[in-house]
Amino acid sequence: MRIADLYQRGGLVFSFEFFPPKTEKGVRNLFGVLDELRSLDPDFISVTYPIDRDRRPLTVDLVSRVKRELGIEAMAHLTCVDASRDEMRHVLERLIENGIENVLALRGDAPPDDQTHIPREEWFPHANDLAAFIRESDMPLCIGGAAHPEVHPEAESAESDLRYLKVKVDAGCEFFITQLYFNNADYFDFVDRARNLGVQVPIVPGIMPVSSVRGIKRMCALNGSTIPSDYLRQLEATDGNDDAVAALGIEFAQSQCEELLDKGAPGIHFYTLNRSSATREILTSLRKR
Ligand SMILES: Cc1cc2nc3c(=O)[nH]c(=O)nc-3n(C[C@H](O)[C@H](O)[C@H](O)COP(=O)(O)OP(=O)(O)OC[C@H]3O[C@@H](n4cnc5c(N)ncnc54)[C@H](O)[C@@H]3O)c2cc1C
Repeated sequence: MRIADLYQRGGLVFSFEFFPPKTEKGVRNLFGVLDELRSLDPDFISVTYPIDRDRRPLTVDLVSRVKRELGIEAMAHLTCVDASRDEMRHVLERLIENGIENVLALRGDAPPDDQTHIPREEWFPHANDLAAFIRESDMPLCIGGAAHPEVHPEAESAESDLRYLKVKVDAGCEFFITQLYFNNADYFDFVDRARNLGVQVPIVPGIMPVSSVRGIKRMCALNGSTIPSDYLRQLEATDGNDDAVAALGIEFAQSQCEELLDKGAPGIHFYTLNRSSATREILTSLRKR
């Protein structure tokens, strides 16, 4: 099923994101986690596209298995910044052969040491170029894209970043999932400004329950997300106690989700980090409300 249709159908849409593990054992563990989360009836599952080129075929394998073996709708993330048209066409054809109907069209980040052997002039400069390539190829795929409520770190300005969001819609994106963020006001403000610019497609909040203080600081430094100072103080006060961090992470993410849904968000996309417990706890409680 096309994910855009899931959002149009009416009810709330809950989705989970996973990344391709590095080892066979990791893949087995992931399917254990998926089995545990299956009873929560996610509307779809997405699998990220690694920066490491050798691991990229795993994304296609995993989404295909999620759809075929678990019967859950699946979406492949695809990054295009270091890909040629031919390479991308090949990946897209493999997805379609495996019955995948949804892709998240992303730019990605250029590898620090460029070992692609693909001349740079063949790369897709931006996510809208990938979306347009898929649309123009007439492939039967529903296309989503990334949105950055706190502004993409390389953006010239918040305004230009938003204008490019509209460019992505015009190129074929039918919904957006946001970068992780912690201040709901940033999301609501971003959605309002996007609507004013004529972006009418669903903008779905991406929520990450924090499970590691060091890990979340590193991620936020890379993607431009801000941890509110009170929350950061609480996290740092746990002093390396993993259970206390996880409990705080769940409590914070849950209240974030409750406010989002109360104020009209179309659903929640959970960044699971390939773990089940936080997502299970939060979604179980959201579904009971
Ligand atoms: C939901 C989500 C999932 C993600 N999944 C992955 C993943 O699986 N693998 C991975 O490697 N990364 C992933 N990322 C990270 C993503 O690749 C990075 O955030 C990347 O730096 C930007 O990707 P984008 O698609 O937003 O790029 P773009 O939309 O291309 O934007 C990137 C920058 O260029 C500017 N820009 C956009 N279009 C144009 C244009 N036409 N002309 C000039 N400037 C322009 C924007 O303002 C922005 O500053 C994900 C991010 C999100 C939010």
